[in-house]
Amino acid sequence: MTPFVDVLVVGGGPAGLAAAHAVTVARPALKVAVCERSDLRPRGAIVFLPPNGVRAIEAIRPSLKPALARHHTTHMKVRSFTPTGELKMSADDGGIMAKMAAQDGGERISIPWHTLQRELADALPSGMVHTHHRFLGYTETADGVLAEFATADGEVKQVEAKVLVGCDGGQSMVREQLLGDGPPKYLGLAIWRAVRPRPADWPVDEGGVSFGAPGQASALTHTIGGAGDMMAFQAFAPWPEDQLHVIGGGRQAYIQDAAIGPAAGSKGEERLQRALAAFDSYPKALKDLIATTSPSAVAEHGQFSRDVEQCQVYSKGRIALTGDAAHLATPFLGQGCSQALEDALELGRAIGVHGATPEALAAYASVRVPLASAVQAASLAMFRDFMQGKQGKSEFEINSEMGFTKRTFEPLAPAQAAPASAPA
Ligand SMILES: Cc1cc2nc3c(=O)[nH]c(=O)nc-3n(C[C@H](O)[C@H](O)[C@H](O)COP(=O)(O)OP(=O)(O)OC[C@H]3O[C@@H](n4cnc5c(N)ncnc54)[C@H](O)[C@@H]3O)c2cc1C
Repeated sequence: MTPFVDVLVVGGGPAGLAAAHAVTVARPALKVAVCERSDLRPRGAIVFLPPNGVRAIEAIRPSLKPALARHHTTHMKVRSFTPTGELKMSADDGGIMAKMAAQDGGERISIPWHTLQRELADALPSGMVHTHHRFLGYTETADGVLAEFATADGEVKQVEAKVLVGCDGGQSMVREQLLGDGPPKYLGLAIWRAVRPRPADWPVDEGGVSFGAPGQASALTHTIGGAGDMMAFQAFAPWPEDQLHVIGGGRQAYIQDAAIGPAAGSKGEERLQRALAAFDSYPKALKDLIATTSPSAVAEHGQFSRDVEQCQVYSKGRIALTGDAAHLATPFLGQGCSQALEDALELGRAIGVHGATPEALAAYASVRVPLASAVQAASLAMFRDFMQGKQGKSEFEINSEMGFTKRTFEPLAPAQAAPASAPA
């Protein structure tokens, strides 16, 4: 028999898992399933939650905030260097985060992507997250949606739902089927990301170190892991479009070397060499950090985005899009994950009021399109300045001036607050 759920979430990244939390809080009686193509193994680097993201997760489920905050690195000495290693900026006093908090009153959390995923997944009711379920497509029925997934054992599994939420990231297949508006646009940048042990000679209290200049290769490192025993780095460099195939083509793939065999290892070595070549003229500390990272830990891909004008539809009938699937921007403003969390909150709120219905999805979209569009536009503008070598405003200044980090949210109320007439 085909399994049936009320809300079927495709994609178990921050957007999908947070959406499952929000629906579960708002309508505990609804049946929710999250289908994720991969497993939950460590991958990616670090994501940054500015105050609006922290408030959004707290509004969804208050207990999630301390669960995430305990992974935030406490040593926040921050340094910024030019490509040739001259110090541009230094804040030694635990400083920059405290200064930002003093200015906008907001708490921030930096957390490894996979830790965020794991914390969100572990806090959901057991059996809700289905790994190794790769979305293949859906069919709309008279009163629902029938979706198909490829599972690890090679079977095709069908799941029926009242509504389907596409949270399957920047290369969303749900979006492709719903809107058919083609792949995202290549931004001319390659990115390498990894989480690795902190080298013994890298100061544990160097919370955040960046190297680079507008328009050039730039790298950002963080000590992580509570005690600072691990490090994450993300390194961006201009990369020609006609060489995109070398770094994985049009896919923003974070899953590499699933099985670490000899072939995968050699590909990892090539990724590492390309990253090193991009930072060849940079300080030795950065090059050593890249060179001593295990090749299999390095993910490499092109960076993509969509224009705001292309992203004005977040729902149609029984299908909705959230997170990167809805409004893929650039990582430069540090808002990608937080926008996914804001989406999740409003989706939960709308389902709390209207049930698992097309009305709920339309209500979610009407709240979120203008808010997420403003962030997406600012992120793309910041990126353009960077690529043109303009020393524009910092991400903190833009977020603060545009009011993004000042956003506050009503806590999600459980379903009894919904009108009695609202369908389940
Ligand atoms: C593994 C990974 C690591 C990342 N690391 C970083 C990072 O270090 N720093 C940073 O700034 N951003 C990172 N990102 C991107 C960042 O998470 C997003 O920009 C943002 O948080 C929005 O999240 P999202 O859930 O919408 O999209 P994503 O985070 O991209 O999550 C989408 C999820 O959907 C799953 N999925 C995709 N296609 C299918 C399918 N056909 N069927 C089922 N599931 C599918 C993916 O495996 C993924 O888990 C990472 C994304 C991924 C997938």
